[in-house]
Order: sequence, then C-alpha cells, then structure tokens
Amino acid sequence: MALTGLEIYKQLPKKNCGECGVPTCLAFAMALASGKAALDACPYVTEAARENLDSAAAPPIKAIKFGKDSVLGDETVLFRHDKTFYHPTTLLIQVSDTLNDDQLNAKIQEIKGLEFERVGLQYTLDGVAIVQESGDAARFAKVAATVAEATDKSLLLLSSDVGALKAALAQLAARKPLIGAATSENYEAMVNLAKENSVPVILKEEGLDALEELVTKAQALGYKEFVLDPGARTPVQTLANLTHLRRLAIKKKFRPFGYPVIAYTSNSEPMEEIMEASVYVAKYASAVVLKTSKKAHILPLMTLRQNIYTDPQKPIQVEPKLHSVGNVNENSPLYITTNFSLTYYSVEGEVETSKIPSYILPIDTDGTSVLTAYAAGKFEPEKIVEAMVASGIADKVKHRNVIIPGYVAVISGKLSELSGWKAVVGPRESSGIVSFSKSLT
Ligand code: SF4
Repeated sequence: MALTGLEIYKQLPKKNCGECGVPTCLAFAMALASGKAALDACPYVTEAARENLDSAAAPPIKAIKFGKDSVLGDETVLFRHDKTFYHPTTLLIQVSDTLNDDQLNAKIQEIKGLEFERVGLQYTLDGVAIVQESGDAARFAKVAATVAEATDKSLLLLSSDVGALKAALAQLAARKPLIGAATSENYEAMVNLAKENSVPVILKEEGLDALEELVTKAQALGYKEFVLDPGARTPVQTLANLTHLRRLAIKKKFRPFGYPVIAYTSNSEPMEEIMEASVYVAKYASAVVLKTSKKAHILPLMTLRQNIYTDPQKPIQVEPKLHSVGNVNENSPLYITTNFSLTYYSVEGEVETSKIPSYILPIDTDGTSVLTAYAAGKFEPEKIVEAMVASGIADKVKHRNVIIPGYVAVISGKLSELSGWKAVVGPRESSGIVSFSKSLT
C-alpha cells in the first residue's frame, strides 16, 4: 500500500531546514505522498528510511527494460482519456526449439518481414520468444543463439529448466533478454540467475494470491527486475487477472503488483488469436506472446496498438508542406486537405489510385479533420492562401485551380477572391476522388 503523508513524515529527519525546496519536513512528506517530489531532494534521509520510503516515491508500475529497446510498464493510469499510455505493448512471436533448422530459418525470415508503414509511421515486430519444448538444453541454447544472430529483436527465453537458461544466457546475456518463468518451485535459482546476468525475469503463479506470495519471496532475494505472469491461459481469466493487477497497482498502489504483466495467447486459430491478443493489448498487458507470424494477422493488431498508445490529445499529423503524388508536372491538380494523418493518407491513397500525378497541400489544422478544423476556425481561406503562397505552388503549375474538400464548399467564394485561383469544390469524402479526378482530364 502507498504510504500516507504522515507515515512518510515519521521517517524524515525533521530538521525543517528547507533544503528540499519546501519549508518543512511535513510539507515535503505531503509532496512525496502525492508524487510531486522526489526523495533525493532531501540530503539527510537515512539509508533505513530511504529503503522504507522507496515504495512511496516509486512509480505505481516499475519500468522494466530488456532487449533492443523494449520498455514494459511505467504506466500511471487506467484509462487513456485520463492521461496517456506510454509504453506500447511489446509483441513477441514464439519460436519453439523443436523446429528443425529449415523451419527455424523460415520462421525467422517471416518474423523479419513483419514491417509496416501506416499513416506515415514505421512499425516492426518487437521480439521473439524462444520456447524450450525439446527438453534438450543444448538445442534450446542453439536455437536462441541462431535467432539472436539472425535478428536484433528483443529476446524472451522461456524454459522451466534453469540449466537450459544458463546455457543460453552464457552467449546472450549482453542482449539483455527477458527470461522465465520463475515459479514457487524454482524461483531461488531462477531469480539468482537473472540477478547474476542483470536480466529481468518473469514470475509465474496461478492466481493472484499465489503470485503475490511469489513476488514477496522473490523480492526478499534482493532483486526487483520482474515481469508478472498470473498463470491463466483462457481469455476470460487472463483479462480478469490483467484488469485486477492494473487496478491494484494504480488505484491501490499495491506494491507486489507494481510490475508489468505478460500475457500469452491460447487460441490456435490465427484470427481468433489476434482477437484475443487485441483484448490483452487494450487491457492491460505490457507484453503479449503470439503464435502467428503472418503479416495479415499481425498488421491489425499493430494498428490497434498504435491507436491505443497515441496521445489522445495529440492527433497524428503529417508535415503541413506541399506533397507530390506521382511524377507531377505543370498541369498537375492541386488538392487541399488538413494535416490530420488519417485524413491526409485517405486523400493521398485515392489520389494515387486516380493515377493522375497531383499536388496535395495539407493545411496545419493541429491534426484535426476537415469539418472539425473548419468548425474551430482552423481551415479558413486566409490560412489556405498563406499556405499556398508559402508552398510556392504558383511557380510549379501553370493552371490556377485549387481543389477543396466538398464539406467546406462554403469557403470557395472567399478563397477564390483572396487567392486569385479558382476554388473547385471536390468530393465530400476522399472515396469520391477517383471519379472526381476523371472530370479533370
Ligand atoms: Fe526536512 Fe529534509 Fe526537507 Fe530539510 S531537506 S526540510 S530535513 S525533508
């Protein structure tokens, strides 16, 4: 449980010297309790008090780093409309050490091909989970080494055999893999192995009570780089566990659950598996281990993840500059739209399909769509003219026609007047661009 201001105050030196930036120890204790101050600001805290107070100053869910650049946890809210989610769910594809060399290479190539571009952003799969199913420690270490050599992705090494993990870590500790899973049977050896190699470790127990007990025992070994696995492998129970863990960590500041959580899909039918993974991405897995590695399956999951982990107060935007589609020339049409990524790329896709090389000028509307921007006074003729002049479009084309979205037909008169160009009212929806473009030829 989080400490109250008065409980924190009891641990402070009570010098009231003000060196921490507030006049009294009590004021500092209150600031600490509400997360507005850091304990380091007081130079007189004793080591014993520091140990006790760590929990009051620590974030509700610890950040755990592993692999190339995977960061799990460090979230502070339950709902993205409260603030934002910071660390997108790490997606890992599982690779069994029972695959033969040809199957393994084919799987690695498929995983390496999981790269996408969407609304101007680049996405790649985060990691590979190497699972020991062979019962052969040497084979497990070899498969892990082969995967590590072939890709720079973050690695998860999964085995209940501490010896097998030790063999794999002998070659791969520098890659800082996540390892697992420590259970109540093997946690001492497993946590100590993680500690020796400075890698994070998964703690797994069936049910939250047993998991809490395991976390407490593992923490007593003097290590805190943990990821939690509450054991269930059915979607309903996993969702319930993920929700309870997040609520207890954020709302109650229940320290044993102040770690990121990993989930594993159970469905073997790929589309059902992706639906299951989508549930875990939405609530509240920090990492999800998947079986499918087909592009068509992974893309929708990454799209969902992208939508959940963008800041709702900052829409994705494109640069508000003149863009060209195809080999533009002096006859190319000029389309005006907004710099909201989804709007821009919808327009761009349709313009591309029209096969008529064209210019698109997105106006800086703070990433809002056409009607929203117009209603907010951000898509006014004056602003469009300003952007047209700044883009130098007048020197690039010999015609003087500017196509505006049909939804803002009302600005056509003033735009024509201010720009000296003929404002042509285009379709309301981008889906109308292809047929509209035929009227231009
Ligand atoms: Fe108290 Fe430490 Fe702040 Fe001084 S610096 S007022 S001792 S909390």
